[in-house]
Amino acid sequence: MQPSGEAHIGNYLGALRRWVEMQRTYECVFCIVDDHAVTAGGDPKELPAHVVDLAVSFLAVGLDPERSIIFVQSDVAEHTELAWLFNSVTPVGELERMTQFKDKARRFESVPAGILNYPVLQAADILLYRADAVPVGEDQRQHLELTREIARKWNATYGAYFPEPEALVGNEGRILGLDGEAKMSKSLGNTVPITAPPDDVWARVRTAVTDPQRVRRDDPGRPEVCNVHTLHKYFSAPAVVDDVAHRCRGALRGCVECKRILADSISATFAPMRERASELRAHPERVRGVLEDGAARAREVARETMKVVRERMGLDWRAAAR
Ligand code: SF4
Repeated sequence: MQPSGEAHIGNYLGALRRWVEMQRTYECVFCIVDDHAVTAGGDPKELPAHVVDLAVSFLAVGLDPERSIIFVQSDVAEHTELAWLFNSVTPVGELERMTQFKDKARRFESVPAGILNYPVLQAADILLYRADAVPVGEDQRQHLELTREIARKWNATYGAYFPEPEALVGNEGRILGLDGEAKMSKSLGNTVPITAPPDDVWARVRTAVTDPQRVRRDDPGRPEVCNVHTLHKYFSAPAVVDDVAHRCRGALRGCVECKRILADSISATFAPMRERASELRAHPERVRGVLEDGAARAREVARETMKVVRERMGLDWRAAAR
């Protein structure tokens, strides 16, 4: 996950809660991808704090450093080294065909090469650990297919070594932000940080867009088209969700009150995580310890992989001078 500060409820619904579950059945590697973040051209002064904030979120939601490897990408230089080597088997045409590249490229007059090569670094992030499976959203499926292709091409050229990882696609679909239109994202300001205090949760949720046809309090509403109702399904008890729909259709409750109930449900869901996060913030040395230990464990695997990769690609000149 890219570090853009603490995680928000869209990150939680779309990824983090699944990752917590996956720890039961998989050996997991969770990486905060700051090398990727620099391609977005953010403020370098803010990036370190964003990394730590995301690490706090990871630990607060229940990613467990005893079970999983949790680390920061730039601490393991093998990621960028492997990406460079994968460039030699990656066709430029494939990179230019990526939907996300086309979307991002539109924003630049002169497109930085890092935007084009982004999926090559992703392939390195995955294959460095010879991962069998990757949890992805629907929008990342194309990049994972490219990772599989890079693994195939590399294996065909240098001998079988990398697995072709499977996509574990979640069934959440696209989680819309409070504007009811765009995907939840911090940069669009249409979401809620997972550890926001209740007042802040309410301040954000009260701006949520509702059924546009419900103009007056006594207009019957359509919960099936209202994103507030969808969010209730994630955070409120099933009986509350049914009640919300019933009262909406019958104009028995106003939208402000309905959003207030949603804000309370969100605050209650994240209360234990809010507590864990504030404890971690009071002890930054614990977060640092987790990330440093994670990087050491990640490096061990990464070095093993790179030893094989260098040998197979002829980057072991000492072999000829022995
Ligand atoms: Fe949406 Fe609730 Fe208003 Fe119905 S009452 S339109 S579900 S916010």
